[in-house]
Amino acid sequence: MALSIKWLAHAAFQIRTEGKIIYIDLEKYAEANEKADLILVTHSHTDHCDPSKIEKVRKPDTVIIAPEDCVLKIGGNVKTLKPGEETTIADVRVRAVEAYNYKRFRSPGHPYHPKGYGVGYLITAEGKTIYHAGDTDFITEMRQLEPVDVALLPSGGTYTMDNLEAAEAAIAINPKIVIPMHRWDTNPQEFKKKVEAESNIKAMVLKEGEEHQVA
Ligand code: ZN
Ligand code: ZN
Repeated sequence: MALSIKWLAHAAFQIRTEGKIIYIDLEKYAEANEKADLILVTHSHTDHCDPSKIEKVRKPDTVIIAPEDCVLKIGGNVKTLKPGEETTIADVRVRAVEAYNYKRFRSPGHPYHPKGYGVGYLITAEGKTIYHAGDTDFITEMRQLEPVDVALLPSGGTYTMDNLEAAEAAIAINPKIVIPMHRWDTNPQEFKKKVEAESNIKAMVLKEGEEHQVA
């Protein structure tokens, strides 16, 4: 039951199960070399959806799941899951969940990520569930998630939760492990300190390219 998570860059991760390679949110700085069985995209912003990176690791039978406005950008056979919908690919279950801003705005009345624009994903494989939150504020839906083993939460602020808000979200979600991402040049130690002071969750600050063995 081997499962590992590698932080590639920004919001991009590689998940390795027994026999499957999964990528989430490939972007231009993500070092992705192995061919993918499954590629997930949370939303169409260029720092989450890079069609040329996807093309590089795509095989004829790679399953790609992305919101509708990414489908044409990526091309070929791409599925879409709306929040609450799920699918199973071989032994991997993928469920889409909400991801949006309600307090961070591009201009008055226009959130950076309006509800319905993007998603987060719950990925269950090898008996573990990984939550990739996408670009989001700390939304009430996070309190109702199923049990999560590893949460990947944006913590960089401006367009998403910042360190302190992401720490509050982590405490509400209560995973075994939380990994901050989408963190720009902020200090993830601020996030780690709050999470570990106020819960039993392990906050792991990965370096780009670092891989963590989950089970
Ligand atoms: Zn975004
Ligand atoms: Zn982003």
